[in-house]
Amino acid sequence: MSTNSADLSKSNKDVECLEKAECIGSPDSLETAPCDSSSKNEHGKQPLQGLKLASHEVLERAQLTGRLKCSKCNGSRMFYCYTCFSLVGVSQQEIPTIKLPIKVDIIKHPNETDGKSTAVHAKLIAPHDVTIYTYPCIPEYEGERHTVALVFPGPGSVTVEEMSKRLIEIDQRRSLSSQEELCSKRAKHDNEAKDTGSAEGRPRDCPLQRVVFIDSTWNQTNKIITDERLQALVQVELKTRKTCFWRHQKGSPDTYLATIEAIYYFLKDYHEQCLAQEYQGEYDNLLFFYAYLHQLINKAKHSAGKL
Ligand SMILES: [Zn+2]
Repeated sequence: MSTNSADLSKSNKDVECLEKAECIGSPDSLETAPCDSSSKNEHGKQPLQGLKLASHEVLERAQLTGRLKCSKCNGSRMFYCYTCFSLVGVSQQEIPTIKLPIKVDIIKHPNETDGKSTAVHAKLIAPHDVTIYTYPCIPEYEGERHTVALVFPGPGSVTVEEMSKRLIEIDQRRSLSSQEELCSKRAKHDNEAKDTGSAEGRPRDCPLQRVVFIDSTWNQTNKIITDERLQALVQVELKTRKTCFWRHQKGSPDTYLATIEAIYYFLKDYHEQCLAQEYQGEYDNLLFFYAYLHQLINKAKHSAGKL
């Protein structure tokens, strides 16, 4: 990573905080995007407040210890290694782990500076459900169109609620055509026909099993998004959220979320709109690292008189 080697033994604690945060987030500029209170955000001006998070004590302790060498790549890291997706100076038992209702695939741009990415946060907190791929090595989603969605804004993108309907339609078309195929091959019994109609009258469950995110800067995503392997997927946009990312990218709309924010908001919408369950903080810990780093940078900016 290209950041200056911060001397963590400096006496000024706030400078230390800022430097540490910079080393982790590797921000181009520390301009924090204002968390717009006019946006649809349940937590008003401070959307990261009120989250049900595990104690940050473990991170505070690791911060005091300072940067350590990653046992796999030898890189100097704090909390985690963004290259190896493993924890550094913190054990897996000390941080929260959550189970997600669907699988999450994250596609990284190969030129993306790893230290800037928040994708690793998802992998560390939900290790069994999150997979990170480096473009162009991505999975084939052919034949799974009815169970996969891609989160990316665009002219053809739909809301999470609409996504559910779209996937059900694709699934129905798919099963219809396979039924027709069956019919043409062999005569169907009356009983079988009755069985297929039994779901009528009640809303169908959302068939979504996997959601894909692109982890890349605003202007590097084009190559990935135009890849034909992703073209056929239902595209979802999280329209009402505004970022709190401290490295707000110049020229990008303020609805352009950090990857971990996008994953969090998507799952929250999925929980409420597709699973039709009340959200009770089930996925808040996805923001365990993010909230800590955000708070660290804000604290340092406050004392530097920048906020
Ligand atoms: Zn490493």
